[in-house]
Amino acid sequence: MTTQEKLNASVMGTYERFPVVIDHGAGEFCTDETGKSYIDFGSGIGTSSLGYCNAAWADAVCKQVHTLQHTSNLYYTKVQADFAARLCAVTGYQNVFFCNSGAEANECAIKLARKYSFDKYGKGRHKILTLENSFHGRTLCTLSATGQDVFHNYFFPFVKGFDFVKANDIADLNAKLDDTVCAVMLEYIQGEGGVNALEQDFVDAIYAVCAEKDILVIADEVQTGVGRTGTFLAGQQFYHHADVTTLAKGIAGGLPMGACLANEKCAGVLDKGSHGSTFGGNPVCCVGGLAVLETVTADGFLDAVREKVVYLREKLKRLSGVASVSGLGLMIGIGLTDKTAGDVANAALEEGLLVLTAKEKVRLLPPLTITEAEIDRGVEILEKVLSRK
Ligand SMILES: *Cc1c(COP(=O)(O)O)cnc(C)c1O
Repeated sequence: MTTQEKLNASVMGTYERFPVVIDHGAGEFCTDETGKSYIDFGSGIGTSSLGYCNAAWADAVCKQVHTLQHTSNLYYTKVQADFAARLCAVTGYQNVFFCNSGAEANECAIKLARKYSFDKYGKGRHKILTLENSFHGRTLCTLSATGQDVFHNYFFPFVKGFDFVKANDIADLNAKLDDTVCAVMLEYIQGEGGVNALEQDFVDAIYAVCAEKDILVIADEVQTGVGRTGTFLAGQQFYHHADVTTLAKGIAGGLPMGACLANEKCAGVLDKGSHGSTFGGNPVCCVGGLAVLETVTADGFLDAVREKVVYLREKLKRLSGVASVSGLGLMIGIGLTDKTAGDVANAALEEGLLVLTAKEKVRLLPPLTITEAEIDRGVEILEKVLSRK
């Protein structure tokens, strides 16, 4: 039995997988079971932010595995303290709750927002506004928060208390923002929804009306955070600092870790017994996260990322077959003139390049450590695939 047959026989069929078995990786390249190598423009799904098996990251993780792989949150660990303090300092938040995924980080943010409002105003102010075309996760609550009808099937009943605002429509925002709303949740760049950045005016309007009405702003930076867009948080490029920010994907270099960060206003809302996670803040994930933080915040690292952004985006815009290049930083959507994103992804795979898709676009989330030479090599393959008749 091949690996693919074996896996398909025993793992639930929830994923549409590419027909390739990844065996090992180093830097920006990975190798399949047959020895064929691929340049990875997807980093998992933006998770392996320092590429495959980055040396400093791998050393820190291995050392921690041999020292203390886990203890419960009934006790303290130095690595959790170090990571939390550093993450809060870098992001400008007061404190953090650690969990294991993006959906869990958003669940935490939703619970926090509802309790913030309950503590201050009592019952009835529990609604969370999210945006149409958003994506916030796969748990029942975060599916309910996700503003796409395709996700609102089969699993009834969904969680109540969500409503959806048309992205970039300030009138719709104002119409839906009644006195039952406790938070507005947004992705600065909608990732799964098609790699579309929100308009500055719309983001400004959200922050203004939320400040006026003591409604929390939750920024879902699960995909945009930790340097992905060229600044540590994408919010910096919109000149806003949300009350609550969630992180996951790239935060620990490929280990499962999610974080929900809170500012002074709401740092005390989730108190003893109100939330928890068995694995959250696991020591191995925390040192992985620390290694990523140290790399991404090192002098000049994000400057270098921003230079690569210009380099890569300029190259992409010049390719024939490319109708548009969207997103921000190294979170890139490529609109196509004639081919489908799925066809391009499959053809690129054949040629030794891994790319992702988002709706009708090809999506790139390359490792933040990618070099210009590797960009050249990947774009060459894309060019070849796109120019094929
Ligand atoms: C991927 C993603 C999530 C869900 O994260 P999981 O780790 O899969 O639970 C939530 N929000 C955004 C914006 C994402 O991109």
